[in-house]
Amino acid sequence: METVDVDVAVAGGGACGVMAALRTSENPDLVVAVFEKSTREGCNADVSSGSLAAGGTRLQREAGIEDSPQQHCDDIIANSGDEMLRPLVRALCEVAPRYVDWIGDTLGYPLEVGVDMPRKGMSVPRLHADPERRGGGPLMAFLRAELASRDNVAFVDEAPVRRLLTEPDPEHPRQQRVIGFVAEQNGEAIEVRATTTVVATDGFANNPDLMRRFASGLGTPFYGGVSTSTGDSIAWLEPLGAQWTHMEACLRHGQVTLGHGTRVNPALPWAGAVLMNTAGDRFVDEQAFGYSGLAGRIQAQPGERALMVWDEQAMAETITSEMMRDSLAAGAIREAEDVADLSRQVGIPYEALAEAMRPVAGRRPQQGRLHHTWLTHGVLTTQGGALIDPRCRVVRIDGSTVSGLRVGGGSAVGTAGPDSQGYSSGGGLMAAMGAGWIIGEELATGVTS
Ligand SMILES: Cc1cc2nc3c(=O)[nH]c(=O)nc-3n(C[C@H](O)[C@H](O)[C@H](O)COP(=O)(O)OP(=O)(O)OC[C@H]3O[C@@H](n4cnc5c(N)ncnc54)[C@H](O)[C@@H]3O)c2cc1C
Repeated sequence: METVDVDVAVAGGGACGVMAALRTSENPDLVVAVFEKSTREGCNADVSSGSLAAGGTRLQREAGIEDSPQQHCDDIIANSGDEMLRPLVRALCEVAPRYVDWIGDTLGYPLEVGVDMPRKGMSVPRLHADPERRGGGPLMAFLRAELASRDNVAFVDEAPVRRLLTEPDPEHPRQQRVIGFVAEQNGEAIEVRATTTVVATDGFANNPDLMRRFASGLGTPFYGGVSTSTGDSIAWLEPLGAQWTHMEACLRHGQVTLGHGTRVNPALPWAGAVLMNTAGDRFVDEQAFGYSGLAGRIQAQPGERALMVWDEQAMAETITSEMMRDSLAAGAIREAEDVADLSRQVGIPYEALAEAMRPVAGRRPQQGRLHHTWLTHGVLTTQGGALIDPRCRVVRIDGSTVSGLRVGGGSAVGTAGPDSQGYSSGGGLMAAMGAGWIIGEELATGVTS
């Protein structure tokens, strides 16, 4: 078997792995190898909206938005209700404005604050995205191109990691430490030995067995993530004593278009969009839940679906999003002249529709020409995973950490807390890129434990 020796071996070249490799390789004396299952199949960061949550960025300051890592952390904990994870969430929030400024100012990727991106539980605008809202694909292509320009990094594609290499930890002989991994390329095994191994292979949402084991309450949702999220790291981390945490929690989405699988802009409820079930019952306050929490409400409706209706003004306010462009291109959004025409198209009696469309206190009435789509619930990524400390080390039940190993992104516990309803928008990429940044920054200074 071919053997390779590096300083840092990274399993997974998505949001967390790429950021960990970028930050580590700022130290030119370190050799970094990233082994990626398949960029052809893609990572969730590729198909994401690419919205980066960060509190206290230069862009926010220049837009006159007062925010800070502390405020960001407080918002997340208020959504998740999970005080136990506060130190980890705080550490992720601390680094978020640093890597957002770095991506924009140092690397030169076009970013702006999404003042048009209101979200449940977000006290000020803090999602950052490119002005054209192209989604995560261009961002990841840009970061991978930057990685490719580094002489001390090898990115090995179509080379899935199969297992971790371990040995008894000299400092704690009854426990194992990690000394690299075995990957596979073109049917050949490669042994990659490393001082530090980073596991960044995301969650298990595309593994039906693991979803049944950990998150059976979600029913049979539409799956909106990539094929590579098969939870490979579960089998690697379990024997090392990983404590599975909040495994039922997912990044769910309650604005997935039925029969098309595209999503509509999560800002629509704030632009006045109305939701009703097949009987015309306005079963929820549209602004009371984020899109992840809304998924459970839609799952509980007849046919696990709901009709969303909005007018021309709401359309104008929300059209600048890749989600709306995708949904329009897919033919998922239809138009109606008025409520009577809508009733004919969707089969909900006129009286029930008119009642559902009646403006509620504090909301703008939807009027004139209407747009509508049937929505269902979906799962985008899992949010549960191995418990990690603020340095992204795996914490065993006795409080000890696994030597030689760092874990981040969807392979580790996220920031949603015990339930999908606690997911804060932008939390997925923040947990991934934040962990990558924390890991890389420490490794670049020579810390190895
Ligand atoms: C449709 C959609 C929209 C989203 N929008 C947003 C958003 O706007 N903002 C936000 O914050 N979050 C968003 N998310 C969530 C976010 O994309 C994920 O939380 C984030 O990408 C997780 O990062 P990661 O590095 O853990 O995983 P990924 O980005 O998925 O990267 C994991 C990588 O590991 C590789 N891999 C898997 N197994 C192996 C193996 N055995 N060996 C080697 N490599 C392996 C995969 O191929 C992949 O490249 C969205 C998710 C989806 C699906």
